[in-house]
Amino acid sequence: MAKKSKREFIWLECKECGERNYRTDISVAEGTPKLELKKYCKSERKHTVHKIRRK
Ligand SMILES: [Zn+2]
Repeated sequence: MAKKSKREFIWLECKECGERNYRTDISVAEGTPKLELKKYCKSERKHTVHKIRRK
């Protein structure tokens, strides 16, 4: 394993309805960046706070 930057897949989960709307990856070496992000929730059709969900 010669990978330098460790990346981890995470989900962005809507805090209001619990829907996992986005999947992305973060660099673990830099630590968890932001725990909460404002994102568009498809099921609610508005912007809500999304929480980072690690596996
Ligand atoms: Zn939602």
